[in-house]
Amino acid sequence: MGAGVKAVVVLSGGQDSATALAMCVRRHGAENVAAITFSYGQRHALETRYARYLARNAFGIAEWKRVPLGFYPKITENALMSREASIERRRGAKCPNTVVEGRNAVFLTLASVWAKSLGAKEVWTGVSEADFSGYPDCRGEFVRAHERATRLALDWPVRFVAPFMHMTKADEWALAAKLGILDLIEDHTLTCYNGIPGRGCGKCPACLLRNRGYAEFLRRRGLRKVRQTMV
Ligand SMILES: [Zn+2]
Repeated sequence: MGAGVKAVVVLSGGQDSATALAMCVRRHGAENVAAITFSYGQRHALETRYARYLARNAFGIAEWKRVPLGFYPKITENALMSREASIERRRGAKCPNTVVEGRNAVFLTLASVWAKSLGAKEVWTGVSEADFSGYPDCRGEFVRAHERATRLALDWPVRFVAPFMHMTKADEWALAAKLGILDLIEDHTLTCYNGIPGRGCGKCPACLLRNRGYAEFLRRRGLRKVRQTMV
């Protein structure tokens, strides 16, 4: 299976991982890219349907799979997996109460196991430490350390590719425009913690980040257009 696969993309169905997938496909070609989506009890299971649409329909990825991690809510609690809890960021808290402890660590490990079985040496992730929610396992320091640990664990020269580590959301929107996938990201991704696709609820921490970044991107683009017409 998967002969020639060069990279596995961790695909959630949100803006970041969809843009990462687009970059990876551009670099290696869809036939050489695999994508993996985890369902870990997140309240909006719809997210994984968006991931499927992105992988299969939008980018033509043959090697896509959804892996259930149904045990997650048994060992940790958070607002993303609980239907009752409201999503918020308490004053002074490092990150919103949507943090799923160790999620990216688990995802990167499992994606690497699959990558090794496919013969792929890259694992792509859309995580970022700039302009994001402050989840500890999204930081560059963690990603580098975990890459090293995973190489040792699997005895496989896997490389973690995190193209947005130091990019803001506005940079990411600009990149989506450059890749020609602005409409796809706007309409066919799900970032909102309340499970509302596209522009989302507009109120949760994920929507606030996404929409603020979009407004900044439009502002910069507007400024550039003004400058161009002045020349
Ligand atoms: Zn929202």
